[in-house]
Amino acid sequence: MDTQTQASADWVALETKHASGAYAPKPITFVRGEGVRMWDAEGKEYIDCGTGIGVAALGHAHPALTKAIADQASTLMTVAAGYYHNDVRAAFMAKLAQIAPEGMNRVFVSNSGTESIEAALKMAKLKTGRSGVVAAIRGFHGRTMGTLGATWKKTYREPFFPLIPGYSHVPFGDVHAIKEAVTQETAAVLLEPIQGEGGIYPAPEGYLKKVREICDENGALLILDEVQSGMGRTGKWFACEHSDVVPDALCLAKALGAGMPIGATVFKDELSFDKGQHGSTYGGNPLACRAALTVIETIESENLLQHIAEVGEYFKEGLLALADLNPDKIKEVRGIGLMLAVQTKDKVAPILNALLENGVMALGATPTSMRFLPSFIISKDEVDHVLSVLDDVL
Ligand SMILES: *Cc1c(COP(=O)(O)O)cnc(C)c1O
Repeated sequence: MDTQTQASADWVALETKHASGAYAPKPITFVRGEGVRMWDAEGKEYIDCGTGIGVAALGHAHPALTKAIADQASTLMTVAAGYYHNDVRAAFMAKLAQIAPEGMNRVFVSNSGTESIEAALKMAKLKTGRSGVVAAIRGFHGRTMGTLGATWKKTYREPFFPLIPGYSHVPFGDVHAIKEAVTQETAAVLLEPIQGEGGIYPAPEGYLKKVREICDENGALLILDEVQSGMGRTGKWFACEHSDVVPDALCLAKALGAGMPIGATVFKDELSFDKGQHGSTYGGNPLACRAALTVIETIESENLLQHIAEVGEYFKEGLLALADLNPDKIKEVRGIGLMLAVQTKDKVAPILNALLENGVMALGATPTSMRFLPSFIISKDEVDHVLSVLDDVL
């Protein structure tokens, strides 16, 4: 298939003809990526600050990752976790447990973010014998029928009523509200330490600590959804480390495989399943585990956590400077590390389109906010370029 000789429009037409209807992508066809750059079918170059919704953590076609995947593909791709052990899976789980918060040394490996949360919710039901789940307004936890009840956005949820009963939502950051909502019927509180889809809202100072206490007082579990904020994106392995809070279960995906589909639920010993209580055909396959293991090792060997903290701070300062220059256009800048958002006064779509026109890919979050979730390897020079394009566009 020679993608370079066919125009974007042809692929757009072909994909649209067979697509499910669930998506409305922009009429641009990406065919190649390298580092923080991507190219469309016409050969136009872009800087990728969306990374497939925070996925391409190491940039595109990182040599260590592509080599590991190719090597594993030619060695062994599949071993059912329910039947046999595997060297790569074992090494990956041990490595993930090593970087996880203290006491979290068990891992259920799945294939996506929503599955990583399904697993945690099942653990909470088993452990507590209760069914209540308290989640947050503006939260996003996926779209399977079990997680949909926790996802806030009505257009995602309401067409599918009735959902699993027992879910409630509280304003994010409001200690009083969550204290009222958590009862002896609550199996778990499920929160993102930094709300992602909702528009990049970090938990206010001290909030998660209080939530942890409230959970403990009521015998409820604390499940933190770090599908978007985890794996280094905020300059620490996990965003909960900024609040010094250890959850009972931690849900991961997105940057975990940096492009290879994989999800993981990391949890404490006492939440372990009994035989047969959960499972996944693909979950824990050596190909995905090898990719995720390589992602962790590369973040360590390239010292990326420190880089993310530094370049993230630099990026945020640049955005704040643009906000100062454009008080009529920008309302607020939010985020930590390389998980940043700009809240606009008017609709954000024209700005996103103009950025794209000028070779910068960012993501919408709400109708009046855009997100920057670049690769962890983005340099200050590349950030400068993004900022100057944004400056022009504004
Ligand atoms: C993306 C996301 C999910 C869902 O992940 P999928 O891989 O799309 O199922 C869940 N929670 C958060 C916080 C996310 O950002």
